Amino acid sequence: MEKVSIFGVDIFNIDFKEATEIVKGFLKEDGKIKKIFTPNTEIVMDARDNNEIKDIINSGDLVIADGIGLIYGSKMRKKPLKERVTGFDISMKLIDIAEKEGYSIYLLGAKPGVAKRASENLKKDHPNLNVIGHHDGYFKGIHLGMKDHEEEKVVINEINSLKPDIIFLGLGFPKQEIWINENAEKLDSKLIIGNGGVIDILSGDMKRAPEIFIKLNLEWFYRLITNPSRIKRQLAIPKFLIAIIVDKNSVK
Ligand code: UDP
Repeated sequence: MEKVSIFGVDIFNIDFKEATEIVKGFLKEDGKIKKIFTPNTEIVMDARDNNEIKDIINSGDLVIADGIGLIYGSKMRKKPLKERVTGFDISMKLIDIAEKEGYSIYLLGAKPGVAKRASENLKKDHPNLNVIGHHDGYFKGIHLGMKDHEEEKVVINEINSLKPDIIFLGLGFPKQEIWINENAEKLDSKLIIGNGGVIDILSGDMKRAPEIFIKLNLEWFYRLITNPSRIKRQLAIPKFLIAIIVDKNSVK
């Protein structure tokens, strides 16, 4: 698989269709659980200065470019990534595949009550989808620096008693990446994706940007105007592009 390395983060150079084929393949395979990471510009900037996080992301079986800044940066250094493939879109595709082909889904993450509402909405909108279980993301575990905590063991045992094929994990970055790194292989599942706010969107607690903003690659701008307190996070994009210009070896 061709990868583009941006500040040492290896991102698969694939379009949405190719990513879909890869996840379908993961679901057909038996054996080790597959890990999907969805870095955006901000995450790559973080990983640049944090080898632990960088290694975790690079250990993913699928690593997609979930930020338009990454596409621009790769093009500026003449190693163009094909397109932005978001964690949200791949998650929706997984729901679609699961409903058609009979795979089960477990939702883990977000504030108490949110994953439950998300799973109720999913069942309503996808009558043939097997949403096998859910749990909020506020138990004690490795993501909060508490390795092998009893509460985490309870969650893992519950998941393994249900054996979901697909796990959506929404603890935010870098908690979900740390959690996957520590626990994925303890899980009796085929695939786990760290997909940030997807559970909040499925529950209706959060809205995705209107289609027009997404089409124009201005999702970041929509987020900024609807939630100005994100300004510090949004500055990651220009900071990232400047770092790409300054460092000749930023993209390989
Ligand atoms: N989250 C969680 N457990 C935690 C911290 C966060 O389940 O210990 C959830 C949070 O409720 C939200 C998602 O992870 O659904 C992203 O959280 P974050 O605070 O990182 O939001 P962001 O800053 O990414 O919008």
